[in-house]
Amino acid sequence: MLRVGLTGGIGSGKSTIARLLEERGAVVVDADKLAREVLEPGSDGLKEVVKAFGADVLNDDGTLNRAALAAKAFASEEARQTLNGITHPRIGALTGQRMAEAPEDAIVVHDIPLLVERDLAAAYHLVIVVYADAETRLRRLVGSRGMDENDARQRIAAQATDEQRRAVADVWLDNSGEVPDVTGLWDRLVGFEKNVRTQSYASGAPIVVPYDERWPAQARRVARRISVAAGGRHVEHIGSTAVPGLAAKDVLDFQLGVEDVETADALRDALGQAGFPYLGQYEDTARGEGDWSKRLHAGADPGRRVNLHVRVEGGAGWRWAIDFRDWLRHDAQALEEYADLKLQLSQRFAADSTAFAYGAAKDPWMETAVKRVQAYKGGQAS
Ligand code: ATP
Repeated sequence: MLRVGLTGGIGSGKSTIARLLEERGAVVVDADKLAREVLEPGSDGLKEVVKAFGADVLNDDGTLNRAALAAKAFASEEARQTLNGITHPRIGALTGQRMAEAPEDAIVVHDIPLLVERDLAAAYHLVIVVYADAETRLRRLVGSRGMDENDARQRIAAQATDEQRRAVADVWLDNSGEVPDVTGLWDRLVGFEKNVRTQSYASGAPIVVPYDERWPAQARRVARRISVAAGGRHVEHIGSTAVPGLAAKDVLDFQLGVEDVETADALRDALGQAGFPYLGQYEDTARGEGDWSKRLHAGADPGRRVNLHVRVEGGAGWRWAIDFRDWLRHDAQALEEYADLKLQLSQRFAADSTAFAYGAAKDPWMETAVKRVQAYKGGQAS
């Protein structure tokens, strides 16, 4: 199953996009709908609400009077927390239930307005943010929904900012004008789901591309996801994409630090289910004494290739990845040499999809780099 988070500001078009994905075959779980369900007449949620806020939050027919409840619940922080304490666990349980009921190969789209406010991005395989500028949203809310303009303005102001949403968006859909075409997005989701289900990784040709300014933000999102899947452990963005200005294959490299190899093995399934299937156990080329072994995982998302190296934190392989990256970040001459080498080799080995010969041909220069990295480290320490 693929879990997709769908969010955006009020009136941005979340439901519109959810419907388009549903038409293609997604299972949509609508957070607003579940929020209403847990307070339906006869529910224990509604009974709890009446106990906490009084019977005058009910209409004559026994249904919830939302305006009356809102007036009481938003009167103080304490009251708001009381209401959340009643609704949130119930909504959470119902969400889990709906997701568990979905078929094994489902693409579940969770339409959740407060994904950013509740810091939930890392729990999804992928997050889609629907965007429309504030004026457009106002126009739609007031125009087609008949919402009061001041009310709409206040709600927009109380929500997360566009910048906060952008930080969690694996996919940013601009719905300010025409409703965007979701064909490419849907194909990506289908490929991603299949890869997670079959524990396959997304592959591609080893083409070196110019440095991409979007890599750091993408890396922050993926790193967070890996860390959450691994119980909050330490994740570092390493490799060429972690060096500003360096051309690289469009594959983000990460290392996840573990206490020992047993922990690496114990985390295998959790990482696989989070979208980073296991590839195998490897020995890196030793650049000195110590532990150069690693467990390699790779990303299942066809739209964002990832290599994940699981290493014992502080071991030789772990330290080299960080030192080599930091040296390239600080030494402009080294950066240029390395960039030239990569460009030459990528042209020479363009037809080699394994990237093995490419890696081997880099070795002589890497050997000379060892001493220079040590010198850099020495300089840092003194
Ligand atoms: P809410 O936050 O209230 O749940 P939402 O983000 O789900 O809203 P929608 O209900 O999908 O947003 O859209 C808000 C309104 O704008 C609806 O009336 C919808 O039909 C309309 N709308 C959505 N996208 C577009 C578009 N690209 N062009 C014109 N109107 C649109």
